[in-house]
Amino acid sequence: MTHSYDPQNIFARILRGEIPNKTVLETPHTLAFHDINPAAPVHVLVVPKGPYVTFDHFAAKASAEEIVDFHRTSAKVCEMMGVVPGEGYRAITNAGKHGMQEVPHYHLHILGGKVLGPLIQR
Ligand code: 5GP
Repeated sequence: MTHSYDPQNIFARILRGEIPNKTVLETPHTLAFHDINPAAPVHVLVVPKGPYVTFDHFAAKASAEEIVDFHRTSAKVCEMMGVVPGEGYRAITNAGKHGMQEVPHYHLHILGGKVLGPLIQR
């Protein structure tokens, strides 16, 4: 798997303001917005503004400030969406071909509002 970043990916275009989004929360390093095709009543994507492809890329290369901001923003989104305190949620991220990642810009899915079923099919 490569970490080479495609600046034309759809989330890069959203971050540049070329494509609209339904913003939940924005900070200097992070943008959180509603998924266009929600898989649950709550489905928010949390995206770092820097050019990171996957979770491992972000975790290895982002600054401490970016990493803290990303996670604090994710925690605030959970509160804003009412899943914390509440009935809980799932935070997941896909990476590469086996993870079936569609958009090659790191993002955390925050899903909730219903029982979400098993994590993966066996
Ligand atoms: P992945 O498979 O990469 O983990 O998830 C990509 C997610 O991005 C999908 O849930 C998909 O619905 C969402 N998505 C794709 N294009 C857009 C878009 O233009 N706007 C928004 N808000 N979400 C998008």
